[in-house]
Amino acid sequence: MPNFEIAIVGAGIAGVTLAIALHYRGINVTIYESARAFGEIGAGVAFGPNAVQAMRICHEGVEQAFQRVRTRNIWPSKEKVWFDYVDAYGQGEPKIEFTVSNGMGQSGVHRAIFLEQLVKLLPEGIAKFSKRVSSIEENGADKKVVIHFTDGTSAEADAVVGCDGIKSAVRRHVVGEDSPSAWPGYTGKYAYRALVPMSDAIEAVGKEIAENAFMHMGPDGHMLTFPVNHGALVNLVAFKTSSEGWDDPLRMTKPARQEDLLRDFAGYKPYIQKLIKLTKPEMDIWAIYDLGDHPVSTFYKGRVCLLGDAAHATSPHHGAGGGFCIEDSAVLATLLLAAVETRADKEGKDIPFESVFAAFDASRRERSQWLVQSSRFIGDCYQWRAEGVDRDFVRMEEEINRRVGIVSTFDVMDACEKAKEDLARRLRT
Ligand SMILES: Cc1cc2nc3c(=O)[nH]c(=O)nc-3n(C[C@H](O)[C@H](O)[C@H](O)COP(=O)(O)OP(=O)(O)OC[C@H]3O[C@@H](n4cnc5c(N)ncnc54)[C@H](O)[C@@H]3O)c2cc1C
Repeated sequence: MPNFEIAIVGAGIAGVTLAIALHYRGINVTIYESARAFGEIGAGVAFGPNAVQAMRICHEGVEQAFQRVRTRNIWPSKEKVWFDYVDAYGQGEPKIEFTVSNGMGQSGVHRAIFLEQLVKLLPEGIAKFSKRVSSIEENGADKKVVIHFTDGTSAEADAVVGCDGIKSAVRRHVVGEDSPSAWPGYTGKYAYRALVPMSDAIEAVGKEIAENAFMHMGPDGHMLTFPVNHGALVNLVAFKTSSEGWDDPLRMTKPARQEDLLRDFAGYKPYIQKLIKLTKPEMDIWAIYDLGDHPVSTFYKGRVCLLGDAAHATSPHHGAGGGFCIEDSAVLATLLLAAVETRADKEGKDIPFESVFAAFDASRRERSQWLVQSSRFIGDCYQWRAEGVDRDFVRMEEEINRRVGIVSTFDVMDACEKAKEDLARRLRT
């Protein structure tokens, strides 16, 4: 086991997949998580072929966990379909305008259940809970990074990876408290999220819509639905654009009622109203923030690196932010192992963390920041607001197909190899 330690801040999809990838490469890891236990919200999340390839690179157990709990479109004829796109506005029955496929189809998991499976791959005690990072210090003398927590305690590590999500404290250390990219910005969209029983959904809107992934589009609003929990539940996320702004930038959710959702989707076809009536009377709405206005200029500073939403928080319209976290984990774990292996004694003394993080930044920043911008664009497409596209379904299909291709056909293994070559070059000079 190399004699150095990586501290991971945050135990979401990014932190947990990175911890697994490093642990199974023989690298010492401790996770510091502000919550009291591992946990995810009760909502769905979907992954495409790029994410699944990245899972496999992190560790085969990650992909196996995903395969165990994932739910595909239930109809065999829609096996490769990512979404069927429906004009959901006005009167009458829903009509499919176009279909986008991605080589693997829609593959959704229940977040909490997936995380529970991933955590089983980690050894007991690897995570320290109720540890909210407040600040970070790099100590020049012994090259340790000191992590301070809000409970007054601190810990040391040889390098720190901030996987602490969209409001990352580690990002503030990397870019500086006063940098405009220290905090995410509101995108003007918010979302209602719900899980509804499949049997109720079938009764309300029929088998085709309930059992497969659909994007229901309209002016300034769209709703997506796809099956999760092996078809026991339908994940429903309804997005709305509003010019009103978000009142509290520190709180990303606020309570809402089913009536609010019905009001936001007034004017949509009757089947949408039926779907909405299956949600609980009380729910939360989520403000959609991202780092699109002020992308970070670097993913690292010294021995501190950013990964996942901490580095490139995106709106969710590509359904790929989580998948990109796993791509990040695959690349960073590959680089760290390569750095260990290039050392003669393999004990990890003087691991060139800065070169590793520089190679990671070079490999990941452009692609993940493209996602942030593209996600905004396709979110606007779904709501007939995208410039030059509006309600033109032919253009919309072209744009979405091209962009989904960039996300899903990415060769993560090739990216890892290229990042390793880049690291080797950096270490030679
Ligand atoms: C509505 C919606 C739908 C989405 N759908 C999809 C989808 O279908 N597919 C997809 O791939 N992606 C999707 N995404 C994006 C995806 O959810 C995120 O990209 C992903 O969950 C980010 O993971 P993360 O681990 O980087 O951050 P997080 O999940 O936010 O985890 C961060 C962790 O860090 C902890 N933490 C925070 N601050 C501190 C601190 N100071 N100290 C210690 N710990 C801290 C938190 O408690 C948390 O556990 C969606 C997002 C939204 C909002």
